[in-house]
Amino acid sequence: MRIDLHAHSTASDGTDTPAELVAAAAAAGVDVLALTDHDTTAGWDDAVDALPVGLRLIRGAEFSCLAPDGRGGHVSVHLLGYLFDPSSAAIIAEQTRLRDERRVRLCVMARRMAADGFPVDPDEFLAGLPPEAPVGRPHLAQALVSAGVVGSVDEAFRRFLNTGGPYYTGRVDTDVHTAIRMVRAAGGVAVLAHAAARRRGPVIDLSVIAELFTEGLAGVEVNHPDHADGDRAALRDLAAELGLLMTGSSDYHGRNKTVSLGQETTDPEALERIEELAASSRVAAVTG
Ligand code: AMP
Ligand code: FE
Ligand code: FE
Ligand code: ZN
Repeated sequence: MRIDLHAHSTASDGTDTPAELVAAAAAAGVDVLALTDHDTTAGWDDAVDALPVGLRLIRGAEFSCLAPDGRGGHVSVHLLGYLFDPSSAAIIAEQTRLRDERRVRLCVMARRMAADGFPVDPDEFLAGLPPEAPVGRPHLAQALVSAGVVGSVDEAFRRFLNTGGPYYTGRVDTDVHTAIRMVRAAGGVAVLAHAAARRRGPVIDLSVIAELFTEGLAGVEVNHPDHADGDRAALRDLAAELGLLMTGSSDYHGRNKTVSLGQETTDPEALERIEELAASSRVAAVTG
């Protein structure tokens, strides 16, 4: 069983449409794929409609959050929500707010680069963005590739866009405690994504993950392309100690990243646990 629980489509910052994504997953030998676009569930229906025989789809989203870093400050983290009710009013309101926030912030970044002489026309760039999608730095990175400023999306991040980089501009993300509560209240299961992806910027202390566990965090993504071996081991130890479930996923973004579908996988037992938790959380949401 190849289970890949984290992938993006054109509904956020991937380059495969939801239909192309599920076809590519089946072609890559994936049996279960989670569609986890940033701050939207807009790709779910198209993915379901195009689902190839033999592929199961787990519906999810990746929530952009702000968390205490455990060192007295705050850090950006991503929370994967699985199997939540997409009609949750709280989730829809927060995702709508974040989509606007993302657009404004990306516009600020493009303006700052244009002001420094980079060949990016902010108005043209904004006009070319998909109108409904939660746009992000990969969209700006692609524009920089097209303009010949950099040779790849990865280079754009390394030179200009990474957290702490010269053109990085912040955004008001969802408080991680609020996001965990929203996902659970909507019958879903919350898993912390790539908690040790150090090359993207500062990461959260393990002590904070332990605290989030007491607030309803169900699991951590242990096997992720951006995780070093030592960090995988540390996350595995923490998960074993606390009883957090462990996932593995590619975080596929199509041509915006070099990873491939099914490159990292999740054990069937962990997926079973996610489905059980979602079922019991749905019962709690109805009766509680
Ligand atoms: P944003 O949503 O604007 O905060 O941008 C973050 C997105 O950029 C995430 O989806 C990451 O997957 C992606 N990202 C971060 N670092 C890189 C990189 N080095 N190469 C490609 N994509 C990246
Ligand atoms: Fe992304
Ligand atoms: Fe992420
Ligand atoms: Zn992701």
